[in-house]
Amino acid sequence: MNVAEIRKQFPILERTVKGRPLVYFDNAATSQKPLQVIEALRHYYSHYNANIHRGIHTLAEEATMAYEATRMAVKDFIGAASTEEIIFTRGTTEAINLVAYTWGRQHISKGDEILISEMEHHSNIVPWQLLCEEKGASLKVIPVEEDGSLSISAFRELLTERTKLLSVVHVSNALGTVNPVKEMTDAAHAVGAKVLIDGAQSAVHLDIDVQDLDADFFAFSGHKVYGPTGVGALYGKRELLESMPVFQGGGEMIREVSFEKTTYADLPYKYEAGTPNIADTIALKAALDFISEIGKVNIRTHEETLLNYATEQLKTLPGLRIIGEAQNKVSLVSFVIEGIHPQDLGVLLDNMGIAVRTGHHCTQPLMKRFGIPGTVRASFALYNQKEEIDSLVAGLQKAIKMLL
Ligand code: PLP
Repeated sequence: MNVAEIRKQFPILERTVKGRPLVYFDNAATSQKPLQVIEALRHYYSHYNANIHRGIHTLAEEATMAYEATRMAVKDFIGAASTEEIIFTRGTTEAINLVAYTWGRQHISKGDEILISEMEHHSNIVPWQLLCEEKGASLKVIPVEEDGSLSISAFRELLTERTKLLSVVHVSNALGTVNPVKEMTDAAHAVGAKVLIDGAQSAVHLDIDVQDLDADFFAFSGHKVYGPTGVGALYGKRELLESMPVFQGGGEMIREVSFEKTTYADLPYKYEAGTPNIADTIALKAALDFISEIGKVNIRTHEETLLNYATEQLKTLPGLRIIGEAQNKVSLVSFVIEGIHPQDLGVLLDNMGIAVRTGHHCTQPLMKRFGIPGTVRASFALYNQKEEIDSLVAGLQKAIKMLL
């Protein structure tokens, strides 16, 4: 993989911040976009912008074909059996909410349990809390070990015939931990529970095969896989999606409407009310193609090199503690430096052109678990380079001198 060539495809990497070359290490929040994604957006708006599905004119047909081509690309990207199982959403958050408001309302009742983990993003906590409050169900939480891995023994104890749903993150955005979701899914199915996998962080790094994982639901966001913001997808097994009640009502999701009764469209349109985010959905295909052309295995090899190098280099800094050192990790490092607030480090690094994320990363319960207000998180993508990690380490050295 030629990183120098790849970098040329990301125009934003040429800019400077505070007079320094941009070092972008906030990829877990959102990745930067390659030219082919930017070009797909420009091309759509300048050549065939039209509303999709019901139009018979050429532009509408072209837009519909491009939109549906992305559905096919998403199906292949995550190994789904059919395009009917792919529902476009605004992102992971909306996908999880869709399941909570449809399958959840239909199947969760008083006394039932929903099992999540201590490392969930708020978007995989709050929808289930709302559902539990409404239904009188309870939320159970799998604890996180000191190294940032999930306690699998606790998971097995928490899993009972009362568990109706396991909703778990594939890869933690705050720790980088890769959870053994296939093994967990098998165990959950054995007690009759359904499984939702939050793939917001895994889709960009790992090979996803929802059929092999046997996931009932899988959610991811386009903007974290080098695609645009405002589009993502929910995968659901066909029989589940068919039997679930509708989510939002409106145009597109109907078969026939009368004041007496409305019937609903077939999958996947049943869950896609209103004019969707056509442009960004079309451009998402360009992002998925970009990843496939380079090959996830090549991307992973490069990112692993960066992760190992960063871990090694950061550990040389006095007072630095890495939060999350599980055996199986993706390319991000979360850390704290004794005596310095993560926010202060973030500000100083920004002054040097280095973009990292600081704070709780939408995982407040996890921060509480580690007894910290937040961390500094450097997350790496395929266009990052070792020299940029050297800049981060040098920046931190300076910050430590200034702040301690
Ligand atoms: N889950 C995880 C693990 C995430 O990292 C994120 C985003 O940071 C989300 C869910 C929510 O994704 P989005 O904000 O794109 O809906």
